[in-house]
Amino acid sequence: MVRNKQEERRDDVKIILEDVNDPDGKEVKDKVKNLIKDQGWKVQGLAKTKTGAILTVKGSEEEVNRKLKEIPVIREGKLTMREVKDKKPMVRINGVDSEINEEELIEEIRRKNFQGWEREDFKKAVGRGIKKKTRNDKVATWILEVSGKLRQQILEMGIIYVAYNGCRVWDHIDILRCYKCHKLGHAAKRCGEKEDLCSWCGKPGHKRAECKVAAPTCACCHSQKIRSDHDVFDHGCPSLIREMEWIVRRTDYGA
Ligand SMILES: [Zn+2]
Ligand SMILES: [Zn+2]
Ligand SMILES: [Zn+2]
Repeated sequence: MVRNKQEERRDDVKIILEDVNDPDGKEVKDKVKNLIKDQGWKVQGLAKTKTGAILTVKGSEEEVNRKLKEIPVIREGKLTMREVKDKKPMVRINGVDSEINEEELIEEIRRKNFQGWEREDFKKAVGRGIKKKTRNDKVATWILEVSGKLRQQILEMGIIYVAYNGCRVWDHIDILRCYKCHKLGHAAKRCGEKEDLCSWCGKPGHKRAECKVAAPTCACCHSQKIRSDHDVFDHGCPSLIREMEWIVRRTDYGA
């Protein structure tokens, strides 16, 4: 089976290292290189950034963090480390009038719920939006990228007002699932499987509705060689939980 890049990156940990005495990070990369030399690290990348260096290592978060903290200059705080947070938080807004476009939505949210925010500041706190159809064609669901600060305020409200509707808001974690093989972290166009897999038994050649197998096999967990005797769409699927935890770890919830 072809493991694609997106699945593989789940085994990576990306850490930013910085030196308070070297704010431009001129020597951080070389320092890190020396520190991890001959230590059996599975380094996949080490690059300079504007403020330090970014280290990509294969391994679990716990293991990589523990090994880094064993290094004296890090333990003593001379070199600081933090994990990369390159994803923005997202909120799901239910029950939005389906006539409203993205620009109107953002301005409506500000005007009816966040009057204390200047229009430009508010725009900066909002990223891309995705509109999703619902069974009721009068209302749509929107998934909106927001800053950590705005997310917190929206979630505290629970309901926000848009046009003539009170809309329920929820935290949203964007899970990408392939509709060909049902595995997580890649889209169908990047799928490594030649044929579609049955979502019940995980085998190719038939659809779920035609499946004759009694017990389910989760294709995600099966390919990770972990317990797979459950439906691939089970909310308790360990692969799903791992994927969600990975996304949460990489999300910048800071204000
Ligand atoms: Zn796939
Ligand atoms: Zn089947
Ligand atoms: Zn599973």
